[in-house]
Amino acid sequence: MARILDGKQIAADIQQEVRERTTAFEASGIHFQLTVVLVGDHPASATYVRNKQRTAEKVGLKNTLIHLPGDVSEDTLLAEIDRLNADTEVDGILVQLPLPSHISEQVVIERIAPEKDVDGFHPMNAGKNFVGLSAVWPCTPAGIMEMFEREQIDVAGKHAVVVGRSNIVGKPMAMMLLAANATVTLCHSRTQDLAALTRTADIVVAAVGQPGLITAAHVKPGAVVVDVGMNRVDGKLMGDVAFEEVAPIAGAITPVPGGVGPLTVAMLMKNTVRLGCARRHLS
Ligand code: NDP
Repeated sequence: MARILDGKQIAADIQQEVRERTTAFEASGIHFQLTVVLVGDHPASATYVRNKQRTAEKVGLKNTLIHLPGDVSEDTLLAEIDRLNADTEVDGILVQLPLPSHISEQVVIERIAPEKDVDGFHPMNAGKNFVGLSAVWPCTPAGIMEMFEREQIDVAGKHAVVVGRSNIVGKPMAMMLLAANATVTLCHSRTQDLAALTRTADIVVAAVGQPGLITAAHVKPGAVVVDVGMNRVDGKLMGDVAFEEVAPIAGAITPVPGGVGPLTVAMLMKNTVRLGCARRHLS
C-alpha cells in the first residue's frame, strides 16, 4: 500500500512557518495584506475564497475581500485592480477564477501588477520562471514541489509525467519539475496512449479534471502519484486518480480531499509574504 502524502499536515506546517514570519514582522509594525477579488456568486468559488480568507486570518495576514456582482463590466473590474495596484497597503492581489464569460481572464491577469501577482499567472512572472529567473510560481505546482521536498521525494533524474497543460497547473508544474532536474513528459487531450506514457513514469501528476482518469493500468509499481483533480461527483469531491485501485500499486499518493488542495492555499499565504517582503525590501 502506498505511503499517503498528507497534504493537510504539510500545509499546516507551512502555515505555521508563515505565522511565525508574520508575527515577527508585526512586532516591527509591518502587516502584510492579501486582497481577494470575487466576481459573482459561483458557489465553488465562494467556498475557495472563504477558505483562503480563513487561512489568511490564521497565519496573520490582513485580508480584504472585494465582492463584485456577476454582471460587473470588465472596465469596472480593471479599475478596481488599478486601485489595488496603487494601494501601498496591498501586498498580494488574487482574482478568483473562473470569471463570468463577458470578462477576459487574460486581460484581467495582465492588469495585476506583476509584483502583486500572488498567483504567479502574469505573463511577466511566467516568462521569468520560464527562463530561470526567480519569480512567484503558481500556488498549486509550488505546493507540490514543496511537498516533494518535505517528504524527501527527490525528483532529479526521475521521469515525471504531467497530465494536463493548463497555464495554472500543468505547464508550470512541468517547468518546475524540469528546473528541479526531472525528465519531463507533458501530456494533454491529444496525447496518444496516455497509459503507455504514464506507466514509464516515476512521478505522475494528474491535473485534468476528469474523475478517475488515472487507473491502475496507468501506474508503474512504486511510482509517486499526485492528484490535482477536484471533481464534484454526486456531491462528493473526487480526484483524477482512481484512488482505491492506484493506492495499492503506487509508492506514494496524495488523497482527495486532503492532498494538493490545502497545499495550494498554504502556498498562497507564503507567496503573499514573499511578495510583501520583496516590495518592502525586507528579507
Ligand atoms: P483545465 O481544464 O484548464 O486543463 C485540463 C487539461 O487536461 C488540459 O490541458 C487538457 O488538454 C487536459 N486533458 C483533458 N482531457 C484529457 C485526457 N483525456 N487525457 C489527457 N489530458 C486531458 O484544468 P486545470 O488545469 O485548471 O485544472 C485541472 C484539475 O485540477 C481540475 O479538476 C481542477 O479543479 C483541479 N485544480 C485543483 C487545484 C487544487 O488546488 N487542488 C488547483 C487548480 C485546479 P488540452 O489542453 O488538450 O485541452
